[in-house]
Amino acid sequence: MERGFLEISEIVDLAIKILSKYSLCDYCLGRQFASLGTGINNLEKGRALKTIIFMWGQSILRESPERGLNIIKTLSSCGFRPAMKFLEDSGYEKTQQKQCYICGGALDTSRFREITKKILEELNEYEFQNFLVGARIPSSIREKEDAIRSEYMITTGEDIKEDITREIGRLIQREVKREIEYKTPDIVVIVDIYSDTYELQINPVFIKGRYRKLRRDLPQTPWFCRSCWGRGCSKCDYTGREYPESVSELIGGTAVEFFEAIDYKFHGVGREDVDATVLGSGRPFILELKNPRKRIVDLKKLEEKINNEALNKVEVSNLEYSTRRELRLLKSSSPVSPKIYEAIVEFDGDVEDDSLKIVEEELKDRIIDQWTPMRVLKRRADKLRKKKVYYVEAEKITSKIVRFKIKAQGGLYVKELIDGDNGRTNPSIMDIVKRKPLSIQLTVLDVEVLGEHEKDKDTST
Ligand SMILES: [Zn+2]
Ligand SMILES: [Zn+2]
Repeated sequence: MERGFLEISEIVDLAIKILSKYSLCDYCLGRQFASLGTGINNLEKGRALKTIIFMWGQSILRESPERGLNIIKTLSSCGFRPAMKFLEDSGYEKTQQKQCYICGGALDTSRFREITKKILEELNEYEFQNFLVGARIPSSIREKEDAIRSEYMITTGEDIKEDITREIGRLIQREVKREIEYKTPDIVVIVDIYSDTYELQINPVFIKGRYRKLRRDLPQTPWFCRSCWGRGCSKCDYTGREYPESVSELIGGTAVEFFEAIDYKFHGVGREDVDATVLGSGRPFILELKNPRKRIVDLKKLEEKINNEALNKVEVSNLEYSTRRELRLLKSSSPVSPKIYEAIVEFDGDVEDDSLKIVEEELKDRIIDQWTPMRVLKRRADKLRKKKVYYVEAEKITSKIVRFKIKAQGGLYVKELIDGDNGRTNPSIMDIVKRKPLSIQLTVLDVEVLGEHEKDKDTST
C-alpha cells in the first residue's frame, strides 16, 4: 500500500478476503486490525467487521445471489450467529462450523472466565498490590498468524498473546481491584490457554538493613561440615555443620515467618571472618524473601522480633523495603566498598612506640600486594590482589597488645595485612613492628555502601 492509510472499503475488503480463505473467530479477525480503533477490544472489532460484511452480503443478495450467499455462508462457518440464523430461517443447508484457523477456538470468553476463576482462588492466598498477566503461546499458532500477515501484507495487527493477557487481566482486575504493573509486578500470572493451565510467579520481597554481629564464632551464612558437606558425620556430631547458627539464618528465619515466605536469600555487603565481630553502624545487607504470602509487614516489629530471638548474637537496624535494582547496585558496589576494622593484636614481645608511628605513616593510602591467603587457598585460586589501605591508627593497650583501627578497600584480607601471611602480603604490620602476632581479634566497625568506584571482581574480605 503506497498510502499511509486504508480506505474504509479496503478494511472491509481485506477482512472479506481473509475470511474467504481462512475461517477466523472474532478475536483473530479483529486482531489483524488491532492498531486501528484503540480502546475497542479485538473481539468487538472482529464482530463489527463481520456485521458490516453480513450487511453487505444481504444487500447484494438480490442482484448477485451467489456472491451474497457465499459471503453469508462464509460468515456462518466462522460461527457468526446472525448468518447461521439467516441461513436456517431461509431454508438453506446448514454450513459446517469450522474452528478458527489461527487460535483453534482457544480465544473464547467463557474459557477466559473459567481459567480466571481458578486463578482468583489461588491469588486469594497472597497479598499483592499489583500484578501482570503473561501468556504462553505454542509456536505453531504464531506461525499460522505470521503467514496470514505476510500473505495479506497486514501491518495493523498485534501478537495473539495480547488478546489473552488483556482479557484475563481485565477479568482479574475487575475482581481484585488492583493495578496492572509492567515493570515490577508483585505477582505474574502466566496463562497457557491451550492446556487450560496457569502458573503464579510470586516475585520476591526485598528488605534492607544493617546487622551487627556481637559474637565471635558465628559465620555469616551456614557453614557446612568440612568432612561431610552437610550430610552429617561423626566429626560434626551428625549436625552436618561446623557452626550451629549463622547471621543469615538468625535474620532470614524470622523474616520468612513474618512474610510467610518459603525461603530467603541473604545478600551481605562482603563478609567478615567467622571469628570477627561487626560493631559500629554494622554491615549492610539485603534480604530476598521468596514466594511471600504477605508483603506488607511492620518492619519495626520484625526488627524487634529478630533482635529478641538473636539476643547477644545479632542485632539488625534500619530495616526498610528495598528493590531488585538496589540489590544489583549493592552487589556491584560491595566488592570494593571501603570497610573500617578494629583489630586487637597481641604480639610476642614488646612493641616500640616508634614502630607504630611508622606503621601509621607507611600504610597511609598504601597499595598492598596480597597473594590469596594460605588459609583460603583450598577454596580460592592463587592470585595477586592489589588493595588499598586508607589509613591505620595504632593505640597501645599494654606493651604487647595494640588496638589498630584500619580502613581498607573491600577485598583486602585484614588478618594477613597484620601477620604478613609468610611474606604473601606486602607490606604488613608484622614486617614493620618486627614482632609476631600471637592473636588477632577482628571487629568490623563500618561498611560503606556506595564508596569508591574502583572496579574489581574480587568479592572476598
Ligand atoms: Zn481465533
Ligand atoms: Zn560432618
